[in-house]
Amino acid sequence: MVALFTYMGWSGLLVGRDALWALAWPAALLLNAPLHEASHALAGWAQGLAVLEWRAWGLAGNYVRFNGNVTLAVLAAPYLRDLASFALSALLLSRTPPRRRALWMGIFAVGMLLPLWNTTVEYTSLFAGRSSDLRGLLALLGPGAVHAGFGLAVLGYLCATARVVRQAGQKAGSHLPT
Ligand SMILES: [Zn+2]
Repeated sequence: MVALFTYMGWSGLLVGRDALWALAWPAALLLNAPLHEASHALAGWAQGLAVLEWRAWGLAGNYVRFNGNVTLAVLAAPYLRDLASFALSALLLSRTPPRRRALWMGIFAVGMLLPLWNTTVEYTSLFAGRSSDLRGLLALLGPGAVHAGFGLAVLGYLCATARVVRQAGQKAGSHLPT
């Protein structure tokens, strides 16, 4: 994230007062766990499971507990949400970017950076043996599908984020007095 904000500054975004946006990132990050757990809960509910317990603000791990076994859809829900949110936001920001800087930054942070963060952190924590979602997906789908899917997703998110930042930076640059 530090590298990303440095890149944004270098691209002509986040200069001067706009640099304060980099400080808004920890606040946006607070939304990550509730969105993640809500995706699990919603997918479970859609499949007829009842939510017995849920925690989304805990420091020592968040979870949703259902009255039955979790399915593939329940495990994959936060990552499918990430994909949909990222794709829609990236499309919006590259095709019809909002004029107001605050709106642009809000869509960028919540729509693109949170999905990038959630998918990347969960995928990398699999290698530390910590992500229960990813371990569940591995058991159901096998290592080939999980590593191909998550590897491609992380790479695609990083490339698309760099592209959106570069595009917006060129636009910001074109408005600078010559
Ligand atoms: Zn999860």
